[in-house]
Amino acid sequence: MKNRLIYIPTKHGITRRKFLWVTSVSAAGFLLGCAANPVTGKSQLMLVSEDEEIEIDRQNSPYQFSTDYGSIQDNTLNNYINQTGKKISALTHRPHMPYSFRGVNAAYVNAYAFPGGSIAATRGILVDLRNEAELAALLGHEIGHVNARHTSEQMSKSALTNALIGGIAAFAGAQSSGLGNLASQLGMLGAGALLAHYSRDNERQADALGLEYMVKAGYNPNGFVGLMDMLRSTSKHEPSAIELMFSTHPMSDERYRTALQTVQTKYRLTQNLPFYRERYMDHTVKLRAMKGAIEALQKGERSMAGEKYDEAETYFEKALKQAPDDYAGLVMMAKCQMVREKYSEAGRFIEKAKKVYPQEAQAYYLAGFVNMNQKKFDSAYEDFKTYENILPGNPNITFYQGLSLEKMDRVSESADKYYRYIKVVNQGDKAKYAYQRLVQWGYVK
Ligand SMILES: [Zn+2]
Repeated sequence: MKNRLIYIPTKHGITRRKFLWVTSVSAAGFLLGCAANPVTGKSQLMLVSEDEEIEIDRQNSPYQFSTDYGSIQDNTLNNYINQTGKKISALTHRPHMPYSFRGVNAAYVNAYAFPGGSIAATRGILVDLRNEAELAALLGHEIGHVNARHTSEQMSKSALTNALIGGIAAFAGAQSSGLGNLASQLGMLGAGALLAHYSRDNERQADALGLEYMVKAGYNPNGFVGLMDMLRSTSKHEPSAIELMFSTHPMSDERYRTALQTVQTKYRLTQNLPFYRERYMDHTVKLRAMKGAIEALQKGERSMAGEKYDEAETYFEKALKQAPDDYAGLVMMAKCQMVREKYSEAGRFIEKAKKVYPQEAQAYYLAGFVNMNQKKFDSAYEDFKTYENILPGNPNITFYQGLSLEKMDRVSESADKYYRYIKVVNQGDKAKYAYQRLVQWGYVK
């Protein structure tokens, strides 16, 4: 059943020798050099330069934000998150980095940083924070990873292409089946595909830096303890919602105890600093009104991961009843329908998703597949084109544009797309298919 989900041809007649010319791409070299670590001041072997960190961030972070259903559309809240982050990042060891902060629409609990300083927190975690000091702790920890250059140690320039063509294990924990299967079949990114996975030492250092930075910015350090405590208790009562966060930022009781102890010793004289509880509550009124819907989405995603699609549908229905125009809810429901091959239902949800958040790319990707499966190749082609305008650089989109054009008998345009695809991707079924077509059509001898 799953093999028929989308148009990915698997049979091909290409010999190994014929295929050699596209595989002669040299391995990307790393720039090696020593530089002073911004936090410790010690000389350290750096795999990437600062310019490269910024470039890696620029290429990859937009894809992760789109996978997480885009920035939340509540500008007041987003500006507030950004300003809170910038107040802290200005006081760090690397104040000159191009930091930016946003909430993203994903329902699971997570926060993450890219090496240039693009940082995000999901609705799933924002809705559980109780004051601005906890937000400062969360952002401070991520800023700590950027300052200690943990993030760039974890990412290479080819991360995006590798993740998109399935060259690396794309899915963590609960995402390994269900949604993950759908995503991998469609050539989409899995939830954690681009996220850095930190070591426990990285976590200790980011916690220490996060605490230092938030106190410098004038926040009560007990906000850090509060955050750790909240994450600990979430891991007990809703483990699947927090799985990805814990797989990327290893959590432990030790982190909670260390934070508590540090606050009571090193920071004992700063314990009268404010939490800014009201300010956080004021800015999250709309978000907190959606808590029920967000929890239903978390449960729906868990059901999807367990391949319990009826149950998932019920949860997504519940979420959409509370929040009918919720982009993430609409896209998740469309995925649920796609997995069950109900393309006209999927089409209704995905078209609505496009309307409620036309600036966000993911819905166009799914709309392209829904339209291809309904043999509406011209619409599919337009969807893929729109996706590419919003989020350029995804080789899979080039391939699917080629396939849509082929199905419309626009051979020379199709050949152009296939050619461009195999210039970027030189292995896998799609590359073989594209190459085979080019041979068949006489573009390659
Ligand atoms: Zn971390």
